[in-house]
Order: sequence, then C-alpha cells, then structure tokens
Amino acid sequence: MSDMGHYFTGTIIDVVASIFLRRGSDLYLGEPVTQSEHALQCGMLAERNGAPDSLIAACLMHDVGHILHHQEHAGADDTHGEAGASFLRPHFTDSVIEPVRLHVQAKRYLCATDAGYRARLSPASRARLARQGPVMTAEEAARFAALPHAQAAIALRRWDDRAKRPGMATPPFAYFRPLLDRLAVTG
Ligand code: FE
Repeated sequence: MSDMGHYFTGTIIDVVASIFLRRGSDLYLGEPVTQSEHALQCGMLAERNGAPDSLIAACLMHDVGHILHHQEHAGADDTHGEAGASFLRPHFTDSVIEPVRLHVQAKRYLCATDAGYRARLSPASRARLARQGPVMTAEEAARFAALPHAQAAIALRRWDDRAKRPGMATPPFAYFRPLLDRLAVTG
C-alpha cells in the first residue's frame, strides 16, 4: 500500500476517487481550471482520440503526484511524474504507470523536437519549465524516444497541454471509473 494508505480505505480506485473529491477542486496553480477539470479534460481528449484504455487511465491520473504533494511546494514540479508513478506502481501495469512517470520529461522532449511547441504552452507551463530541467539535447531526445512507453507519454503530454480550457464539458469521474477498475491489478 502506498504511503497515503492510512488516509483512505477501499480499493486503489476508491483512493483515486477520494483524491479527486478531496483535492480535485484545488486550482491548478496558474491555470484557469481545477485539478479535477484538468484530469477529466485530459482523459476525455485521450478517449476522443482513440487512445487505448491504459493511456486514458494514465491521462486521468497523470497529475496525481501533484495533487498528493501539494503543488505549491517549491521544487516539487520536476518530480511530480515520479511521485505519481510511485503511488500508482503497486496497482497498475507499466502501460499506465510509465506515461505518468515520463510526462514531465516529454515536455522537455517536445521543446527540443517540435519547433512551435514551447510557444503554445500556457504561460504558467512555460514558467514551470525552468524548474523541470533543461530542454533535451538531440542525443537525450533520441534516447527518450526509444524508451518503452515514450510515445504514449508524448501523446499524454499533448493532451495535458490542451486540457486547460475553462468550461469544457467532460463526463464526471464516475464515467471513467469502470475503466480504472478494470485496469487495476490489485485492490
Ligand atoms: Fe497535467
């Protein structure tokens, strides 16, 4: 069980649902949407674009590390992918965990490989980049792209960047819950 286990009871999806309920209304610092809105928009964009269930799940939970480790905490931003992955690791397969773990690196990858990418980031996301590490060199980018699940992480990242629209209609968490329940490998 994760270190959050003593806060919650039930299955991992109950825990995730509790996180959405308890912390989901927090504003995503510097963005015009809440953490819940952001997560649901990201999951919905993945679903609409035909992503496999594992990637839809990763999109829904990609910032769980942010939500758990209060995002205001200075310096936490470069590590929230790893924190989220650690939280999810006992409960999901790599096809869910790895895109979450790699999504911050995917931003540094896209800055290096997509000429217009940085300019399309939200101002807050551009500002966070400074704390998330330098843009990748060509060699680092090639190494990153060859990692298992890197392409899924890059797709997640592109939906993540678009999932910041105030008022975008999305299904509720309950709509996605059966998909998450199916993917959980342990309670
Ligand atoms: Fe995000």
